[in-house]
Amino acid sequence: MANLLDRWTYRTTPTVVFGRGCLDELPDHVRRIADGPVLVVTDRGLLEAGVVERVTDVLADAGIDAEVWYEVEPEPPTDSVDACAEAIHQTEPAVVLGLGGGSAMDTSQIAACVVTNGGRAEDWIGVEVVRKPGVPTISIPTTAGTASEVTGNAVMVLPDRSNKMTVVSPYIYPQTALIDPALTDSVPPHITAATGMDTFCHAAESFITKRATQHTRQPAADAMRRTLEFLPRAVADGTDREARDQMSYACLQAGYTLANAGVILVHGLAHAIGARAGIPHGVANTLCLLPVMRLAAEQNPALMAELAEPLGVSPDVSDETERAQAGVAVMERLVDQVGLPTRLEEVGVQRAWLPDVAAATLTNTRVADNSPVQPNAAELTSLLEGIY
Ligand code: NAD
Repeated sequence: MANLLDRWTYRTTPTVVFGRGCLDELPDHVRRIADGPVLVVTDRGLLEAGVVERVTDVLADAGIDAEVWYEVEPEPPTDSVDACAEAIHQTEPAVVLGLGGGSAMDTSQIAACVVTNGGRAEDWIGVEVVRKPGVPTISIPTTAGTASEVTGNAVMVLPDRSNKMTVVSPYIYPQTALIDPALTDSVPPHITAATGMDTFCHAAESFITKRATQHTRQPAADAMRRTLEFLPRAVADGTDREARDQMSYACLQAGYTLANAGVILVHGLAHAIGARAGIPHGVANTLCLLPVMRLAAEQNPALMAELAEPLGVSPDVSDETERAQAGVAVMERLVDQVGLPTRLEEVGVQRAWLPDVAAATLTNTRVADNSPVQPNAAELTSLLEGIY
């Protein structure tokens, strides 16, 4: 086991506001950043669900001018982020407010940086490529999944749809994350399942990355425990407030660890599959979770035995290999409970794509190098064949 107390750097969003009803604090947080108009960056689904109006009403009641740009695309491609940057350029807001799931928050965060850094969204892909702060942003999540509000990462689909790539920068963090679980109450069951599984993957993957530290393992373990207990409840009954609140908190905890310890090949594969097949991020992660974790249990049982504890495996199971396998069985049960697809064929992936998916995954070295197991392209292809 790596020394989890080795040196580390920990980053997060400077102001994190959490709790059911905290949306009413939004005007104070806007004014703390700037005295001027707001551009709300969001998507049509949120407009139709009435979530946008709840936010604009709070701003209007406080006398803050707000315009709404609702053209965010799900799993945003680079050109839709460029369109958002153009909207910011035209409206010249003092604060850009990303309202939605990861798609809206990521779009707002990258676009805010494009406006001040120039160029196009694609130019800023990579680690610490962005040169200066963007227009100030506030992120308000409406799903419990991505935790984009507390990460310095923002993800886009490449123009050729071969992969998703990430802008990683301290300037991507918003100034404020305002997490009001009530905004997730209207998320339909299949999106609750997919986004909740994204949270689970952030926690489980980051627990076993090479960059994991004591400081990241604690929130990761907490997020896993809460997700195992409350995600099936939130999927079964979206009006279960306790389950919604707990999932928003699990998402936040998983975001702290995701931002600082990173993820592994579950996300690596999911990005390459999701970009090609156009499927939601959480669905793609769920498909890839079990094969990657089974491989890890086979090749690194000692590490996977450590993961067994937050997965709730009884201490009576003392053999390393058995603990690793029991942990995988817990994850299998969770996937089964949330009812998402488990075969690539079910979501429109073509068998002929698999070698390219494997190759694209390995080009994402930030994720591949952080993985405790290092399969080559042929091994990754056969792993994908196993879930076709
Ligand atoms: P999403 O933002 O694409 O939203 C999915 C759907 O849910 C949309 O149709 C939206 O309208 C709807 N929706 C959202 N909130 C709702 C609500 N309260 N009521 C009703 N409908 C609602 O999905 P997501 O999974 O949250 O985000 C996915 C994106 O986030 C992907 O592009 C992924 O790569 C990215 N991501 C980013 C990070 C990060 O660290 N920045 C981490 C994980 C994922």
